[in-house]
Amino acid sequence: MPLRVPAQVHIVEVGPRDGLQIEPRTLSTADKVALIDRLSGCGALEKIEAGSFVRPDLVPQMADSQEVFRAIRRRPPIRYMGLVGNSRGAERAIEAGVDEIDFSVAASETFNRRNVRKGIDESLEELRRIVALAAPARAPAPAVPVWVTISTAFGCPYEGEVPADRVLRLAEAALEAGAAGVVLADTTGMAYPTQVGELVRQAARLAGTPRLGLHFHNTRGAGLANVLAALDAGAVRFDGSIGGIGGCPFAPGATGNVCTEDMVHMLHAMGVETGIDLSCLVETARWLEGLLGRPLPGQVMRAGPRSRRYPVPEERPQAC
Ligand code: ZN
Repeated sequence: MPLRVPAQVHIVEVGPRDGLQIEPRTLSTADKVALIDRLSGCGALEKIEAGSFVRPDLVPQMADSQEVFRAIRRRPPIRYMGLVGNSRGAERAIEAGVDEIDFSVAASETFNRRNVRKGIDESLEELRRIVALAAPARAPAPAVPVWVTISTAFGCPYEGEVPADRVLRLAEAALEAGAAGVVLADTTGMAYPTQVGELVRQAARLAGTPRLGLHFHNTRGAGLANVLAALDAGAVRFDGSIGGIGGCPFAPGATGNVCTEDMVHMLHAMGVETGIDLSCLVETARWLEGLLGRPLPGQVMRAGPRSRRYPVPEERPQAC
């Protein structure tokens, strides 16, 4: 059966948050702002996760998110999103002027307790408080949409397999609590394509594809294969990280998020529209590599796009 791919997908850039928060080198506020502004200039990213409003002693790399939000040059219709850990964080995020809130709940009880010291039910309570806060206090101020990222949706480093039913029940509960949409996240890179296809098909029936996002890490090399499986199952929203920055807290030295420009390159080759300027992304990834001072895992930034042409060599080239 031929692969089914949609005509268009939406890309959410999470590098400035999910990527940078685990990088060994902390960028200055000015460099973070420059990164986000460059990304905004690359075309139709749907959203950019520009920072997080969690306790600065826990995630020191994101301590300046308030200043970052103040300084970035916003380019509508791109939406600038901030991650929050609780309702206090949501208050700070709204004050900082986020367009959207990202709140994370794990599908695994152990992971959620380890990550935020709360049970899943308590996290859902917190979600209700955040949704209430984000609702407009006074018309005509618009509500700030709250998206819920379901972490460890494809496996947990402590509990192992996470049953699909549990993920779906949590997605349903999050939507009932007022979430604008849910993102299924493969937090530690355990997902594989057949599993992804199955879960995405079921989640799409539950939430509808516009309210369903996918977030893959390339920890074990299956990132783009999982994107493809999700596309085939109907998904149209994907998170990516510029240059493939980031990592996995459970596998030191491991590769990070699915690389945005590698994903966009693959999508464009298949005729899937993103509205994003690939060469702008590649340039931004190379610039960021210089700032972070380490080779980034992105591959198109090294090989160039497939449209690249080489001079015909005099000698016979070595086959590769
Ligand atoms: Zn992630």
